[in-house]
Amino acid sequence: MPVTLLGASEIRALAAELDVTPTKKLGQNFVVDANTVRKIVHVAAVTAGDRVVEIGPGLGSLTLAILETGASTTAVEIDHRLAERLPATAAAHGVPAGALTVVDADALRVAELPGDPNVLVANLPYNVSVPVLLHFMETFPAIERGVVMVQAEVGERLAAPPGSKVYGSPSVKAAWYGPWRLAGTVSRQVFWPVPNVDSVLVGFRRDPEPRGDEDLRRRTFRIVDAAFGQRRKMLRQALSEVLGGSGGSGGSGGSAASASAVLESAGVAPTARGEQLTIDDFVAIARAAG
Ligand code: SAM
Repeated sequence: MPVTLLGASEIRALAAELDVTPTKKLGQNFVVDANTVRKIVHVAAVTAGDRVVEIGPGLGSLTLAILETGASTTAVEIDHRLAERLPATAAAHGVPAGALTVVDADALRVAELPGDPNVLVANLPYNVSVPVLLHFMETFPAIERGVVMVQAEVGERLAAPPGSKVYGSPSVKAAWYGPWRLAGTVSRQVFWPVPNVDSVLVGFRRDPEPRGDEDLRRRTFRIVDAAFGQRRKMLRQALSEVLGGSGGSGGSGGSAASASAVLESAGVAPTARGEQLTIDDFVAIARAAG
């Protein structure tokens, strides 16, 4: 029996049956349009051999479109009522036993996942989209690529190149794992309820070789946070706290001088600003700081 997708009226009926009123707190905007969920799965190039992880399956619209390809799916949902109901919805829509595993948990806290997923596909809860993405990239290195739907502003940040106005800490941290790209826009009208922001698809592909170990990543992210915490300041100033050395009594002049020395040895101009630097520049600074 082929897998069938959820229609708009069935989604509302399911929500009513479960007594679910979509909440802003959990970023619950459900997709009620079959073309949109098929488009997401198509852009993600999901095929039968893939092992997909979906964050926030909700009532199951996107989940069924993923399962329609023959890929196996692990779906992490924080809302117990939705997590509990999803297996029955899947079975009623022709999903073979064993193809779907539901994890009833907060995606920000999951430390292990069944099914060793290699692809991430999600219509993310917008209030936690960046932290949840970074958590998954860090915790599950087997995830090699993915496509997520996020608020347009967040998607533009994630995919922004250095020097652009919206380039910031999320852009650099995401780039630690590999390249990110904008992969399409999505109309507000495909959601229930209709959100008051635009949405985009963002695709990523993990670099085959990691940039460094966990310790280097942490040190790099600390420097990134400091650089963008004071993004108008030159790096020698913005990084004086994190690179300023341990010798002085905290006088900001001395710290800025030590920060300049580290920046120069990393090949980065002390007068540059964080928004001009690539992830590789930030890694070079972290390495130079030792
Ligand atoms: N995938 C469904 C769709 O496209 O219709 C629902 C997407 S909705 C934007 C986000 C979903 O993420 C909701 O089902 C919500 O309950 C769930 N969610 C919110 N915060 C979460 C968290 N921290 N961990 C796991 N799921 C979460």
